[in-house]
Amino acid sequence: MPSDHSEGEEGFEEGRWASEPERIDPDDYPPLRPFARVMTWAECAACGIQVHDLAVRFLVAGLVCPTCGVRLTEPPEDGMERLRTLLRQEDELSEQIE
Ligand SMILES: [Zn+2]
Repeated sequence: MPSDHSEGEEGFEEGRWASEPERIDPDDYPPLRPFARVMTWAECAACGIQVHDLAVRFLVAGLVCPTCGVRLTEPPEDGMERLRTLLRQEDELSEQIE
């Protein structure tokens, strides 16, 4: 019997995606080419899970728990400015890991 050491530990063991993955435009990234997306997460205390999403999506829409629908974070006020910077940074990072 495999030992389950995650049981009984405090914290947010499970992670869920806040939204479905985006479709990738093959003109941007061909299949099997690595690319960088910046992620972020927040915890939903009610569900005991980590809610993960793209940072660009968080900047635009905040984070909503996919299980209970509670809004975990509002989008930052300067989200649209930070979005432009972040998209540029993601491009730069993707080039670096080629
Ligand atoms: Zn929840």
